[in-house]
Amino acid sequence: MEIRENLERVRERVARATERSGRRPQDVKLIAISKTFPPERIREAYDAGQRDFGENRVQEAQAKRPALAGLDCAWHLVGHLQTNKAKPAHELFQWLHSLDSARLADKLHQAAPAADKPRLKVLIEVNLGDEAAKSGVKEAEIAALAEEVRRLASLELVGLMTVPPFLDDPDQVRPYFRRLRELAERLRAVGFPELTELSMGMSHDFEVAIEEGATMVRIGTAIFGARG
Ligand SMILES: *Cc1c(COP(=O)(O)O)cnc(C)c1O
Repeated sequence: MEIRENLERVRERVARATERSGRRPQDVKLIAISKTFPPERIREAYDAGQRDFGENRVQEAQAKRPALAGLDCAWHLVGHLQTNKAKPAHELFQWLHSLDSARLADKLHQAAPAADKPRLKVLIEVNLGDEAAKSGVKEAEIAALAEEVRRLASLELVGLMTVPPFLDDPDQVRPYFRRLRELAERLRAVGFPELTELSMGMSHDFEVAIEEGATMVRIGTAIFGARG
């Protein structure tokens, strides 16, 4: 019950944020991040109409997926992916938000399942803070990685993603979201028109992200509740 209500509330907030910024609710894909929650909770969200789900670990997705067979939805991997998990990642997910190296792109391509499978949609994760401990590529490295992904037939480059630093006041995160949008605009103008998706915004800051142009928001806590 609670998940249905949470989802309704989040959808309303997404709609209001799009209206405020002159956009349409259907321009923003809501991804329910179900990490740490069991398949039953995912099913509840599905029954409430949710169709995009995200996990941050391949192993967890592998464990949960048998209980969710047959659901007609899209799966997004949003956490860091190790090259030795490329094969299951390609099999289990339709979207990868966290591509952060040419080596990983190559491994994903080598691990691609049958040629008739749709390409894996990938977003390049950008580390805007240049914080050494976080994953993602530096701004100056995006174009080279984008070129590499283009050469790989099993991957489809679609956009950029970022996880900004956690700041209590969401408005302080706004410059990061704005920066990612500007980077995508600039790259589109210099030969990467396919960079149309902007994956940015989580439970505490998704409205600001939408105001700054997010096309995909990744929301866990506001839908499923606090993680244990
Ligand atoms: C967990 C996670 C989210 C969702 O975070 P909430 O604050 O619970 O909404 C979004 N993106 C990534 C990469 C995550 O790991």
